[in-house]
Amino acid sequence: MSLFSPRRYQAPFKPMRRTEEDTLLIRVFTAGEGLIKGALFSCRMCGNCLLQETAFICPMTCPKGLRNGLCGGATPEACEVDSTRPCTWYKIYERSEKMGREHKLLEINAPVDGNKVGRETWLDVVRTWREVEESPQIKDFFGNREKWDEDWERVFYKIRQPDWWEGDSEYHPPAYEEPASVLEANLRTGKFTCTAEIAPPLSVSPSMISKKVGWMNEYVAAANFTDNASATPRMGSLASSKICLEAGLEPVMQLQARDRSRALIESDALGAAGLGIRNILCLTGDHHRFGPNPNIKPDQFDMDSIQILWMLRRMRDKGVYIDGRSIKNRPVFFLGAAGSPFGAPPKYEAIRAEKKINAGAQFIQTQPVFDYNRFVEWLEALDKRNLLDKVYILAGITPIKSARAAHFMVDVPGVVIPEPLIKRMDESGDKEGQQEEGVKIALEIIEKLHSTPGVNGLHIMAIHWEDIVARLIEEAGLPKPSIKTLPQEE
Ligand code: SF4
Repeated sequence: MSLFSPRRYQAPFKPMRRTEEDTLLIRVFTAGEGLIKGALFSCRMCGNCLLQETAFICPMTCPKGLRNGLCGGATPEACEVDSTRPCTWYKIYERSEKMGREHKLLEINAPVDGNKVGRETWLDVVRTWREVEESPQIKDFFGNREKWDEDWERVFYKIRQPDWWEGDSEYHPPAYEEPASVLEANLRTGKFTCTAEIAPPLSVSPSMISKKVGWMNEYVAAANFTDNASATPRMGSLASSKICLEAGLEPVMQLQARDRSRALIESDALGAAGLGIRNILCLTGDHHRFGPNPNIKPDQFDMDSIQILWMLRRMRDKGVYIDGRSIKNRPVFFLGAAGSPFGAPPKYEAIRAEKKINAGAQFIQTQPVFDYNRFVEWLEALDKRNLLDKVYILAGITPIKSARAAHFMVDVPGVVIPEPLIKRMDESGDKEGQQEEGVKIALEIIEKLHSTPGVNGLHIMAIHWEDIVARLIEEAGLPKPSIKTLPQEE
């Protein structure tokens, strides 16, 4: 444990390679800096310091190395990956709130620059201080505090926001006019729109996907394909999405950061666009600890969901790769993110949602709603930040298939099922009775969501029960999608 941060999850980084600039003096200086920052902040020497943005708590102590906010499974008690430690990001939010620095949490922070890891940063500050046009002057600290703050910020913005990233705290509306996808076209009509999830098969069976697409094609605007959720390998999201497209339904390809470098994320996104897959849901991904053993080595997160959104939006709207190279034929994406109404307190989740929307999220699909009142609190927190006009909200719905499934889901990070609903499932009799109760509960929640201002549609996650989607939509009296192809594709 250090003075200001939770303890490190992994050892400090070492430089990737030695250069001629690594003189003995610099190496000794770097070791000294590492010792001091280790004792104060549990610093991992990422070389891309964000301490001023994160209330002086090192975000790299998070087991996923998240640099833009907490994950969906964070709780006030502990980190979802390692229950013996607190959630780093909970601490950051709490201290930022106490210090009145919450606004600083909105800036989109860059992924780590591998060339800087393990290297000193203090000399970098001195160099940048000298380089910037108007560097902070000590006299202003006492005489003109506003100017001092501005000049100070200029120095540190340059340090933490490299030219290849240019992160900020602003909203960037999409730079295109016509809808990018059928899903976007349906949402733009203002009609309540549904999507549904299809779990990619655990084996090589494309016919399984086509069959499930057939069950729901008439009822939903698009089908999501998870990307090795729970760190468990299945048929890939890209391949599944392509099979779905060929079966006549638009896919939402989930693209997660876990197990992918930034180069692979760009490559997969471009590949998807090339195959005609327009909807991409950007996720950080579950930690490997939730997957089957043997487990992978630690530190497998190169980016987080917010960074993916920022990168893909810039590929689409600015036509640039993360490294600045230009893209000749820009990809067309309709970008989405996951929403977590039942994770951290709504005020914290709303900061994270705002960051996702600013980075590029155009639609949000939420965790399944069982606790309607808590969902509304989250929605109100988003509304307070004027976010509901900038993003389409698709509220998550999961019909509970059995009492056993209800008990299992209670332990899923970010899912909250109120006790009375569990009791209803427990008391609903045999298998058939339990399924009917699950449908009844789902229909009751759908009815409320359908008339909730700010909700644009549903995202139905009927886990291993995809044939129930059509029945839910029919019985709830929800509209079917009115647009099935884009004008340019007719
Ligand atoms: S709960 Fe999530 S965000 Fe918090 S420290 Fe653990 S991995 Fe990081």
